[in-house]
Amino acid sequence: MANHLQFPERNSAYVATFDKGDLALPPAKKYIVVSCMDARVEPAGQLGIELGDAHVIRNAGGSAKEALRSIIISQRLLGTREIAVFHHTGCGMLLFSTDQLRQVVKDAEPDNHAVSEHVDKIEFLEFGHLEQSVKDDVKFLQDNPLVLKGTTISGWIYDVTTGKVSSP
Ligand SMILES: [Zn+2]
Repeated sequence: MANHLQFPERNSAYVATFDKGDLALPPAKKYIVVSCMDARVEPAGQLGIELGDAHVIRNAGGSAKEALRSIIISQRLLGTREIAVFHHTGCGMLLFSTDQLRQVVKDAEPDNHAVSEHVDKIEFLEFGHLEQSVKDDVKFLQDNPLVLKGTTISGWIYDVTTGKVSSP
């Protein structure tokens, strides 16, 4: 299965020079990056994150709301104390609404009641405005009682056309 991806073959190049097998479980620099799953986004390279430094939590849009489960685990069990939320230009989350996506899923299987029932429970957390979406996510974390008090929280935008990061 998935042999076309050739993971073992390509991994052997990584293994050949790998020398970080003694890193500790908690992130050394005690921070979290929340970022989009977009294939053009690569937080480690773009932000200079070394292996073992940080938790990078990725999902569609870089949603802080969806990342909350992982953030709680990261803060309470693994000692992180700073959160940086990254959204990016050209994000797919600017292009559809939850209602539209629910309809796409339902239309694919119009007679399947279970599909309809389940997808109606999912909020896809799309956004209409990039800068505002970052500010909203920062505020969501600042106001959330499950995020540790005193956590440094910042919001950022990554530009997929220039590779640059900026504040919204
Ligand atoms: Zn995106």
